Amino acid sequence: MTSATHDAPAHNAPAHDAPALTARTALSLPHTHVDTIFVDGAWQPSQGTGRNPVTDPATGEVWGSVPDGTPEDVDAAVGSAQRAFQGEWPKLSPSERAAYLIRIAEEVEKRAEELSLTNSRENGSPVSESAGAAANAAGIFRYFATLAGYLEREDVRPFPRGGGESVVRRDPLGVCALIAPWNFPINLVVIKLAPALLAGCTVVIKPASPTPLSIRVIIDAVAAAGVPAGVVNLVTGSGRLGDVLVKHPGVAKVAFTGSTPVGRKIAAACGELLRPVTLELGGKSSAIVLPDADLDAMSEVLIRSSMRNTGQTCYISTRILAPASRYDEVVDMVTATIAAGKQGDPLEPDTVFGPCATESQYRTVLEYVESGLAEGARATTGGRAASLSGGLEQGYFVEPTVFADVTPDMRISREEIFGPVITILKYDTVDEAVALANNTEFGLGGLVFGSDEAAALAVADRMDTGSVGLNFFASNHAAPFGGRHDSGLGTEYGIEGLNAYLSYKSIHRKV
Ligand code: NAP
Ligand code: MG
Repeated sequence: MTSATHDAPAHNAPAHDAPALTARTALSLPHTHVDTIFVDGAWQPSQGTGRNPVTDPATGEVWGSVPDGTPEDVDAAVGSAQRAFQGEWPKLSPSERAAYLIRIAEEVEKRAEELSLTNSRENGSPVSESAGAAANAAGIFRYFATLAGYLEREDVRPFPRGGGESVVRRDPLGVCALIAPWNFPINLVVIKLAPALLAGCTVVIKPASPTPLSIRVIIDAVAAAGVPAGVVNLVTGSGRLGDVLVKHPGVAKVAFTGSTPVGRKIAAACGELLRPVTLELGGKSSAIVLPDADLDAMSEVLIRSSMRNTGQTCYISTRILAPASRYDEVVDMVTATIAAGKQGDPLEPDTVFGPCATESQYRTVLEYVESGLAEGARATTGGRAASLSGGLEQGYFVEPTVFADVTPDMRISREEIFGPVITILKYDTVDEAVALANNTEFGLGGLVFGSDEAAALAVADRMDTGSVGLNFFASNHAAPFGGRHDSGLGTEYGIEGLNAYLSYKSIHRKV
């Protein structure tokens, strides 16, 4: 590994060098320094005395803290979820549970600003991104509510050779452990929570250590919606606590979003326990620019499709594959588009790029930038810590960086960076572009840019990945989302995502 040569910026740097940040003290957020977890339908003290800090990555300032939970906290939360699973919740009809989901959606929408500001303060997502979190979360709850009919539909299947029939039941699995990363701390929980609740499961949530506060606003919404006590529980703490939760005897299923190495450990633990598990992991996705691509149109989606959330999005296409005939044109367009996005205070509405979410991620990204330069890639914009350009002295800002002259063997071309870094590779034939896109251990996202839609679709069909956008970047709550190979196991979203919280039972009878 190339070692980083940049030091983290001093957090006590003189303010006169830095652009003024929105006054943090003026924000009134519902959860900052807290000593509770959510168990049995109430905020209750953690049984431990340890606290973990919450840091604002734009300033390096510690502005919150949460319990460093203990195994006793996990016992309490799982016990609460088990009691709730013995109670009325799984016995309600799916339509009754769907009504709760709709009420949760309404309560989430009322808290849009709290959610946005808490999220942006804990992980540095620009408010232009986090402002949509509540609407997106509400949309997920509402979408899953529409699947109540699917669960209620009678499913009776005749024996193919006659003589009997089977009544197929779709039972909730039980207590689900929901473990989330820090990049989208609200919605990567909600895409698990909504189908789990509709299915009739009860849950224990463990957010990532850097982002334990915004999910508490979702818990407030769940409580305000009148969801019965114990159905939703929250613990906070380190990965070690996550491990305790994954292996807890009271847990029936684990749903995890995070890194591939941690996903492997969880899969191994669940394998030993024969415990169902869904894993949404890392990615290194490619955007194939076909020779007939409209680069102006591509420029309009590029910041989202390749740099969403300051590059901290699992399914963006950070590897751009450009035809040799138009390579310089693509490099110029990508460079100009990225260089035009304002980097700065995540709380300013016109900010496009914020900081890296954590100091450790900041160091990782800088190390990748160094490795790219050392391996001969050419930074056409960015290429260093933002503190070195004299603007953003505080916090964990890395300049949005575009690398040209990238070859497939370089680390920046193969490994997930998870920061504001785009690499641009050159190809000669479309077959070579497809081979390059598929030559990765991952398989999460992807994009094809081309004016001939049919030709672009044919290329998308050849990509070995879980989702592909055609001249377009989005995800759809109603369509399966999941990774192939090292990008994961199983599927979220859609009916497929709901099925992951169900256990089937066939009741056979003679007719
Ligand atoms: P991470 O280090 O894997 O952590 C994810 C979560 O797992 C955190 O809550 C973490 O707690 C917890 N954890 C750590 N070790 C654990 C263990 N042994 N057992 C149980 N839980 C454990 O990932 P991250 O750094 O937060 O997030 C970045 C990664 O997430 C990237 O690789 C990105 O690609 C991936 N991601 C994937 C998707 C997707 O949908 N495919 C979406 C977003 C992000 P602590 O925070 O306390 O360590
Ligand atoms: Mg981590």
